[in-house]
Amino acid sequence: MKTCPIPSWIPHKSATDCEGLLKRFERTMMDGEGKCIYCELDLVSSTELLLSSELDHLVPKEVFRSTPESGYTKNGDYRINLVFCCGPCNDAKANWPLSLPDAEAQKILALSRANYLEAARKYTVTRRRSEEKRVARLMAINRKHVDFLLVRSNDLAPVAGIELDDSSHEEEDRQQRDVFVDEAFASAGLPLL
Ligand SMILES: [Zn+2]
Repeated sequence: MKTCPIPSWIPHKSATDCEGLLKRFERTMMDGEGKCIYCELDLVSSTELLLSSELDHLVPKEVFRSTPESGYTKNGDYRINLVFCCGPCNDAKANWPLSLPDAEAQKILALSRANYLEAARKYTVTRRRSEEKRVARLMAINRKHVDFLLVRSNDLAPVAGIELDDSSHEEEDRQQRDVFVDEAFASAGLPLL
């Protein structure tokens, strides 16, 4: 993205630029009543959560850097652009909307602050949900393996799995694991011997 439209709700030049970070943090935190602006987790309910909370730039700093008018560069962290959120939401949002195709990002940057915030919430919460699903799927296969896997010699594509039957296969959690592995091989269309 070469240049990005600066949302009209962000003032170009402001006298409050010199406001200290801590002060801004306090004010921003109070604006959202201490809740993560995206997932609404109550971040002031414990010291641990409060310490893990972050200030996010609603509009990524890159947007301000992309404009030749340097006045915006300083205002990249102007208070209206700062929101209080939890770490996982900040990570999930990353540099949205710049992560989207150009035309889509430009459309979002042209929204009013309320609509922009709504779009940011939707994106962040959806992204976190899909990440949680991915981790759950990963955990399901975590540390599961078969004794041997036959592969094709030229490209190492799997051909079949081999399990050695020993007494451990009679234990209950082991049986659950065996059902899971059987299903995984069946869905991949591979024989398990
Ligand atoms: Zn959150």
